[in-house]
Amino acid sequence: MGQGSETIPDDYDDLICEQMGERNRRHRQQERSLKNKVHAEVAAQLKRHGISKTPARPKGAKVDCQCKNCGIPFTARKADRARGWARFCSKSCAAIFKDRAYHGRYRGSYGS
Ligand SMILES: [Zn+2]
Repeated sequence: MGQGSETIPDDYDDLICEQMGERNRRHRQQERSLKNKVHAEVAAQLKRHGISKTPARPKGAKVDCQCKNCGIPFTARKADRARGWARFCSKSCAAIFKDRAYHGRYRGSYGS
């Protein structure tokens, strides 16, 4: 016991943090620009080989849907449909449907 000889200045941590913070910030900036360079280089090399890095994906296939509110048929993207979206022909129909569902299903169940 009695090892109180190690004296650390009060602002030691702050000093280190400040320096490290500055270093980290610079490091991150360097890293980012390096990453961009690598990305550009890779893209350029791929291009030279006739490979497009981001192949033009076909825009989502369309599917026929029917509006859950007004019943009007409309087309939506399959991807949206898979996500549970695209159930209404328009935003207003979605709003109306939600409103109705809210009042129909949930009214009365609150506060009872
Ligand atoms: Zn509708």
